[in-house]
Amino acid sequence: MFDKPAFAGHESVHHFFDAKTGLRAIIAIHSTARGPAAGGCRMWNYVTSDDAFTDVLRLSEGMSYKNAMADLPLGGGKAVIWGNSKTDKTPELFRALGRAINSLNGKYWSAEDVGVSVNDMAFAAEETKYVSGLSTGKAASGDPSPVTANGVFLGLKATALRAFGTDDLNGRHIAVQGVGHVGAYLCGHLAKAGARLTITDVNTEALEAVAKATGAAIVAPTEIYDVAADIFSPNALGAIINPETLPRLKVKVVAGGANNQLATPEMGDRLREQGILYAPDYVINGGGIINVAAEIAGAYDPAWVEAKVQRLVQTLGEVLDQAGTEGRATNRVADEIARRRLVAIS
Ligand code: NAD
Repeated sequence: MFDKPAFAGHESVHHFFDAKTGLRAIIAIHSTARGPAAGGCRMWNYVTSDDAFTDVLRLSEGMSYKNAMADLPLGGGKAVIWGNSKTDKTPELFRALGRAINSLNGKYWSAEDVGVSVNDMAFAAEETKYVSGLSTGKAASGDPSPVTANGVFLGLKATALRAFGTDDLNGRHIAVQGVGHVGAYLCGHLAKAGARLTITDVNTEALEAVAKATGAAIVAPTEIYDVAADIFSPNALGAIINPETLPRLKVKVVAGGANNQLATPEMGDRLREQGILYAPDYVINGGGIINVAAEIAGAYDPAWVEAKVQRLVQTLGEVLDQAGTEGRATNRVADEIARRRLVAIS
């Protein structure tokens, strides 16, 4: 474990098995320097336990960076459940997860992530108070997607300003990959700002609903990388900037809400060489964790959330400007700043 590149100095990793419910879960705590580790719980049908292990390590390190860039008093952690989210979910499974989270005594706060809903986490919350992103309760913050999408919209504008000299999106052509929770809200903002949209998704129902609401053109999922647009906005999968897709991109900006957009950090260097300005994913998509952090703090304050999102957009601008001045990839600059911030805060 200690030799894996993904281990990346994690403080601790916890494996949980519950024979009665079949729960197989891993909770990784990358850093608690800034505060309790916070990050969602993903349920995925990994091929091997090693795949689950690598994924949770990578994701929890990413949460340390995301929370640091959003200037939250939180460290980074993540949970994964190894299982099929379509067939293996039961209330008891999530109660068992809740007991696992509780055994860490507040070192790790969980929430929903891919394959896990607010309703699932409500079962976990029956067994522990260390669950957030809930729809009921004293400080419930609910679905973080609208806040994420708002942050992505503002961050996309900040990136457009640097690339085009104006943040006016009126008439800009934007190719959007994924119109799920974040993508659909984002398309609403973009259409309102006058952007011309080309969208894709594997979910044709969602695709048609967003096209109807925004007047967007539709392309097949495999064609989105070839769309000659001003901006490409990934809001679905990870690792979509890779050696296969890079040469196909005909845009000046990549800015979207998806996590882990770069297959490797080198892809950020390649984007820069191709003259494409990349908004580092864990900076631009930090709105959701800001929303969750308000709940963890114990009192949901929308004004605090709004101010934090505004500050995050400024931070994104600072990253883009520093990268421009130093002639370096934006993801390299963001990683450096985030690592510097992984120290105790008062
Ligand atoms: P979601 O599941 O609601 O939406 C994802 C969409 O992508 C779905 O509509 C799905 O059909 C589509 N999709 C899947 N495979 C695709 C493919 N090959 N081509 C095109 N579309 C495809 O998830 P979400 O909550 O909207 O999150 C989207 C991304 O943003 C994820 O990477 C997530 O990790 C990230 N993110 C979300 C939040 C949040 O607040 N929800 C916060 C930060 C980051």
